[in-house]
Amino acid sequence: MSTNVAVYPGSFDPITNGHVDIILRGAQIFDRLIVLVAVNSEKKNLFSLDERVDLIREVFGGNPKVEVDTFEGLLVKYMCARDIRVVIRGLRAVSDFEYEFQMALMNRKIFPEADTLFLATRENYSYVSSRILKEVFGLGGCISDLAPAVVIEAMKQKFKPARRKSKEAR
Ligand code: ADP
Repeated sequence: MSTNVAVYPGSFDPITNGHVDIILRGAQIFDRLIVLVAVNSEKKNLFSLDERVDLIREVFGGNPKVEVDTFEGLLVKYMCARDIRVVIRGLRAVSDFEYEFQMALMNRKIFPEADTLFLATRENYSYVSSRILKEVFGLGGCISDLAPAVVIEAMKQKFKPARRKSKEAR
């Protein structure tokens, strides 16, 4: 068994300071933390898989405890193949709980050795999600303290045409 290794799966479209906080705290608990970016082809992502991975690598490049990988399909298959037993997930509000709890139990049903470790959000990031960041940024709002600088820069590039139009309309 790979002891003291955990995976932290998600879409990370893109990584926010809420994710960064969970990763840093997870890396204090485990020797190795693998941030697992989901291929989830059915979701319409703003950033491609490679872009999402690269952004996380840029943020954690200097941290030897943090690795980045991708997975497609069942998370527990990835874990089973590498004998990893712990999944980290972040909890923001009660609204996250129902889905997360269901997923945790389903993962355990498929891979009984798997356990999910929930880390509570830091209160100043409790309202932060990738979705709301994209919405607010796309409409011209400032979110510079809610995501790493490399992410803000990448979002500027993605939203250039939309933000230019919204400025012209003002
Ligand atoms: P998914 O599509 O799997 O929900 P996300 O990238 O949205 O992927 O989230 C990955 C994980 O990070 C989830 O467990 C989510 O609850 C958690 N998370 C997202 N934003 C925050 C935040 N601001 N604080 C704590 N946890 C968060």
